[in-house]
Amino acid sequence: MTQEELFKVLVAHCKEYGFIFPSSEIYDGLAAVYDYGQMGVQLKNNIKTYWWEAMTRLNENIVGIDSCIFMHPKTWVASGHVAAFNDPLIDNKDSKKRYRADVLIEEYLAKIEEKMDKEVAKGKKRFGDSFNEEQFRATNPNILREKQKYDEVHARYKAAEDANDLAEYKQIILDCGIVCPISGTANWTDVRQFNLMFSTQGSNNAGADDKLYLRPETAQGIFVEYLNVQKTGRMKIPFGIAQIGKAFRNEIVARQFIFRMKEFEQMEMEFFVKPGTEMEWFKKWKENRMKWHVALGMGEENYRFHDHEKLAHYANAATDIEFNFPFGFKELEGIHSRTDFDLGNHQKLSGKKIQYFDPESGESYVPYCVETSIGVDRMTLAVLSHSYCVEQLEGGDSRVVMKIPAPLAPIKVAVLPLVRKDGLPELAQKVVDTLKYDFSYQYDEKDSIGKRYRRQDAIGTPFCVTVDNDSLVDGTVTVRDRDTMTQERVKIEDLRSMIEQRVSLTNLLRKL
Ligand code: ATP
Repeated sequence: MTQEELFKVLVAHCKEYGFIFPSSEIYDGLAAVYDYGQMGVQLKNNIKTYWWEAMTRLNENIVGIDSCIFMHPKTWVASGHVAAFNDPLIDNKDSKKRYRADVLIEEYLAKIEEKMDKEVAKGKKRFGDSFNEEQFRATNPNILREKQKYDEVHARYKAAEDANDLAEYKQIILDCGIVCPISGTANWTDVRQFNLMFSTQGSNNAGADDKLYLRPETAQGIFVEYLNVQKTGRMKIPFGIAQIGKAFRNEIVARQFIFRMKEFEQMEMEFFVKPGTEMEWFKKWKENRMKWHVALGMGEENYRFHDHEKLAHYANAATDIEFNFPFGFKELEGIHSRTDFDLGNHQKLSGKKIQYFDPESGESYVPYCVETSIGVDRMTLAVLSHSYCVEQLEGGDSRVVMKIPAPLAPIKVAVLPLVRKDGLPELAQKVVDTLKYDFSYQYDEKDSIGKRYRRQDAIGTPFCVTVDNDSLVDGTVTVRDRDTMTQERVKIEDLRSMIEQRVSLTNLLRKL
């Protein structure tokens, strides 16, 4: 199966088992908007708890807040979103489909890279052990031709990006012969800037000033509450403020499931530091955040840093943590050193002094800030795509199993009476009673035990507990492990601590 096919299968699986549904599906759905079902919401909540506790409990100097989606319209002027939160868009006149011009060009460049990689793969096959990739790339005529094309287009694209030259974007698209995948034509409109913020009208009056935006990031809520939190919490620099909440962006390219949504959730932490110390903190937060990811056990090799070469005007360092999604390494989290850009601008526009008085040095200053920002939905997709696997079993059978890291699994334990008689359901209910205060669980007595195991595998339940006739006699049950499918007899009174060992969030936090 290609990665693309695998992705399609994953999307179907997520729907079939109640993780994620297209929004308003009975009306044929709404592009780039998704709902979380009964399994998805628990997975997402567990991810949020893991992040929240890691931030606010493991760091004495980080506190959490919950600010509103609506903010004073001036917030978005100060943050730069009104003026510059744009994507360059282009429409195909025949298909009436809208695209991001920069993405069309990037996809074109990615295809050239793919061609070169294929050529390398062929060379590897041909030359075997004696293959020298560096030399091959430097001499193979097919690769050299593609590389020249790549470099030319890439240089033009970067120059257009730097100069914000929309006409040049269009010219590149035309010169490269990029066509609309739906109509197959190059009948393009001009490229225009498109602001990604959604807006609505407040109710006080109908003037332009009453335009309210749905926040495109949660961070600004933290900046405008900086003074309140610092004062009421008696926070001393360095300190951080964390927040989880919804954000909205009118994304044009929207074909990547929950990777890019119009309504999504962010987990953001702004860490305020003394100017001049921000690089040291930037480095610490890079390490700290990578550790948080790796502790989940989804393979260190599936993460990498991508340092930004071109920095936003307010940042003096920026990196992405990229994850190996089914469609390649893509941004999962951003870590930015944002200087005093946000607090400084809010100070200017509001006319309120937003400064920190350092009791030790006697100085007052606008703090600098290091931000860590991760999408809950992207993180959910990382977990789901990494966890999905199809395993061949002995006897030609296969099973679909979601190997979700146990502390994040929506359901931790399933309790299954072997048959629906002989007092087994009653004993199974007693088992449920001993577990339900600590773990999310499912009780299931329908169908054969094999089918019930498969259903639990498909939603990623780490443990299945089967109650059989022996249980009535000796008070033990069979515990089946999701990943290894091994089974062992365990006393009912030992179940809680045994399950706890594996699924506990506390144990995961201890690794950080
Ligand atoms: P991208 O380049 O992929 O559009 P970005 O650089 O605009 O992302 P940030 O503004 O840095 O993203 O937002 C921080 C995080 O929020 C991202 O790393 C991502 O996990 C998440 N995020 C951003 N936009 C979306 C979206 N439309 N849908 C889901 N998650 C998103």
